[in-house]
Amino acid sequence: MGRPARERRAELVELYRELHDDHGCPLAATRTNVVFGMGNADADLMFVGEAPGANEDLQGKPFVGHAGRLLDTLLGEIGLDRGDTFIANVLKCRPPGNRDPLPEEIAECEPYLMRQIALIEPIVICTLGNFATKLLSGSPIGITKVCGRPQTREIAGLDVTLYPLFHPAAALRSSAVEQQLRECFQRIPALLDDARRERGPEPAVVGGSDAEQLDLFG
Ligand code: URA
Repeated sequence: MGRPARERRAELVELYRELHDDHGCPLAATRTNVVFGMGNADADLMFVGEAPGANEDLQGKPFVGHAGRLLDTLLGEIGLDRGDTFIANVLKCRPPGNRDPLPEEIAECEPYLMRQIALIEPIVICTLGNFATKLLSGSPIGITKVCGRPQTREIAGLDVTLYPLFHPAAALRSSAVEQQLRECFQRIPALLDDARRERGPEPAVVGGSDAEQLDLFG
């Protein structure tokens, strides 16, 4: 922590270009767009989903379908919106027919996700569903067992609060899961407060905040 946000943002834009130009993903042949992620390049709060679906593949943005609308609603209920967060996925390309990501696809994309995390420097990372949770916790324990239990982890060289949550798509299929997800979201502001307190005051930025949006796509 400690590198100026402007510098980290510039590197994130470079990473975005690299992903578009050089991504050797086995899914490159079937995808329409790489979905890098979007939001605040200096966000304290990051969400990591599974993989782009059909809508995301077409638009080049994460979580723009039904699951994304629920994510927006849940964020709104805690007084946040996408601009307060950075939203990314384990995979940057859509698996055909929305099948589960394969281990080799996850391995191909993992370095990009780790570099995103290292550049954004979030202090709370919410993993959405099994794939993101297992990847970032480094544990094979599934989401049902760890959902809603914050963990302290070192990820991409940063001390973060990892907060595993059910995937919004699962909440769309079950009102009980939706209720649980809603309750878990209610804890996010307190987790952010705790993590900010632990981090301590951020250095003042001459000329105001240099937090920046990174709403790149296509
Ligand atoms: N589901 C995900 O995991 N990610 C998206 O971007 C959309 C749906």
